[in-house]
Amino acid sequence: MDLPTLATQILAQDRRALARAITLVESSRPDHRLAAAELLARLAPAGRQALRIGLSGTPGVGKSTFIEAFGLMLTAQGLRVAVLAVDPSSVRSGGSILGDKTRMERLSRDPLAYIRPSPSQTHLGGVARRTREAIALCEAAAFDVVLIETVGVGQSETLVAEMSDLFILLLAPAGGDELQGVKRGIMEMADLILINKADGDLKPAALRTVADYSGALRLLRKRPQDPAGFPKAVPVSALANEGLAAAWKDMQHLAAWRRETSHFTRRRAEQARHWFEAEVREGLLARLTQDPVTRARMSMLGDRVAEGQTAPAKAAAEMLASLNGN
Ligand code: GDP
Repeated sequence: MDLPTLATQILAQDRRALARAITLVESSRPDHRLAAAELLARLAPAGRQALRIGLSGTPGVGKSTFIEAFGLMLTAQGLRVAVLAVDPSSVRSGGSILGDKTRMERLSRDPLAYIRPSPSQTHLGGVARRTREAIALCEAAAFDVVLIETVGVGQSETLVAEMSDLFILLLAPAGGDELQGVKRGIMEMADLILINKADGDLKPAALRTVADYSGALRLLRKRPQDPAGFPKAVPVSALANEGLAAAWKDMQHLAAWRRETSHFTRRRAEQARHWFEAEVREGLLARLTQDPVTRARMSMLGDRVAEGQTAPAKAAAEMLASLNGN
């Protein structure tokens, strides 16, 4: 693969080159991993940055409808928008609901938008790395906004929040006065809670839900990265295209404030450190399971422990020492 040419094409905003590069970072083949690392290193000096917006919501809440309407609003302003998906269901089933081609049809035809379906991956760590690297590729290809979408289950929300500048929770109007089982931890990560479907018959329920969440957010600990009035809950209707411009204004205000107060760069620096450490941990784990010599040693020491010849802690120390040596 001709990496210098690929890098040049990505910087020149060539979408097919971008698609090829994302396929490259999705691959777990060792030679592809090396090529991906080199490609990313070639692109980094361009120093391009997008606003990374994480968006989470359970199936049916209106994510596709929202992203399509929101994305089209941004492209109408001349902004270039990339949409990536983190789909834990594809981790389990090998299929991908977020990859459905019929979703966001109009946005996918927009020349200023790029939508990348979720790949099927075998583990969440792989999905995390692929998404993080895909974000970097989209930034190099000069996208202004990268939306990272996830279904609100499992650990995917934390994962997406950890790679976003802003984290947004999309919720539907609640029937009763319960807070839809949204976990406190998720609430604490949210910068903006959008109550979708605030239209027609659902509008009164949506406004009640906004009030409930506004109350709940006020009870949370004040975070240093928030200007006055944040985090907040607001009503939107993706279907009727209402409240989206106001939500975008909120996001811009928040991002601008964080930039001025250096919370933005600090958060990115922390995220970079976090992902570096995660990568090292994963590399070590990969060595345990993939390297034949290491696997044989694990198996041999495991047998000795099982037979009572060596204590577990002593065998583990021996194993770790051998890892340091090779
Ligand atoms: P996703 O599974 O989160 O991607 O949800 P979809 O975008 O596919 O929407 C699920 C259903 O909710 C569809 O029938 C949409 O038409 C509907 N929906 C989405 N947004 C709105 C909205 O703002 N108002 C109303 N009334 N329905 C909506």
